[in-house]
Amino acid sequence: MELRGVSVHYGRTCALSEVDLTVGRGETLALLGPSGSGKSTALKAIAGFVRPSAGRVLLDGADITDLPPSRRGLGVVVQNYALFPHLRVADNVAFGLRARRLPRAEVRERVRETLELVGMAGYARRYPRELSGGQQQRVAIARALAIRPPVLLLDEPLSALDAALREDMVAELLRLRAELPDTTLIHVTHDQGEALALADRIAVMRDAKLVEAGPSGRLYHRPSREFTASFLGAANLIPVELVRHDGDDLVTVRLGGRELPAGPVTGVPGGAVALGVRPHRLGVHAPGRELFPATLKGVQWRGSGFRLDLDLELTSGSCPVRAEVATVDGLPGVGQRVGVSIPDGCPVVPLG
Ligand code: ADP
Repeated sequence: MELRGVSVHYGRTCALSEVDLTVGRGETLALLGPSGSGKSTALKAIAGFVRPSAGRVLLDGADITDLPPSRRGLGVVVQNYALFPHLRVADNVAFGLRARRLPRAEVRERVRETLELVGMAGYARRYPRELSGGQQQRVAIARALAIRPPVLLLDEPLSALDAALREDMVAELLRLRAELPDTTLIHVTHDQGEALALADRIAVMRDAKLVEAGPSGRLYHRPSREFTASFLGAANLIPVELVRHDGDDLVTVRLGGRELPAGPVTGVPGGAVALGVRPHRLGVHAPGRELFPATLKGVQWRGSGFRLDLDLELTSGSCPVRAEVATVDGLPGVGQRVGVSIPDGCPVVPLG
């Protein structure tokens, strides 16, 4: 599946701007970004629900930009299930097969197989209203998969479910992915945990543009954009001065008058750079000589640990950072000075 320079406008609103993206056969891609960043629009351009104002959509190298959705042969699952309420589960799943005029016996067999695939074999004769939200979503997935589409498009399929059910469904989607190794999955989500759990690759979107796309691990551990670092893993971005390159992609940076080994750094940034430090990697202690001075601004108990808001005191001014620690024993109170430790080897990202 390939998008080549695809733009979509709704009247004057540019919802998607010159997006280039390729997803390989059998790959799972997450389209990740905040609300309104253009993820659903990208999915709709692939499904054929919106017409690009520029660019082409290709499937297996063939240009499908002008094909109506029904002739693209893709599976689509949307957030609110959109099952036909007056049809039983089996008839919902059979819908696309009947539209394709498959022989009856084959329809019956495919429906059985597909319901089994999503763990809903026992529910064929129920109506959608007789199912829970999670079960309805499974049926929606079965309905999309019944035609054996080469590409399954999922638009925030879990966002209408409660937290515990969402976790079950992530496990369910992982199982499905393993059972359908040739099916390409494109999954729209604003939830970075979901994207990391499910996707081989992540495409990060912001303001109608693709910020960067790459293997999930690379984007998490060595983001090349400031936005990726802050959105995927909520890294603190601490402005630093790049002192020198130390070979490979390692560098030395200067922070608060001290030098610190850092990296990986992607590319060779020319302008201002920041250290991306995830909250759980910051250490917070009583003030000490080896530590960066900071003021403790707030403490929130989170059950499994504490979230601390701090103002890091740098030569250039103060920088707000967030830390996650297991305990606050031995720490001074809110408003007091503390010492912060920053580990070696944090990724360096260009600012702006
Ligand atoms: P996301 O899926 O990332 O939340 P969308 O692709 O739904 O974002 O929306 C991208 C932008 O396009 C937003 O600014 C949104 O308000 C706008 N938009 C989406 N659908 C329509 C529409 N049918 N008409 C006008 N504007 C729209």
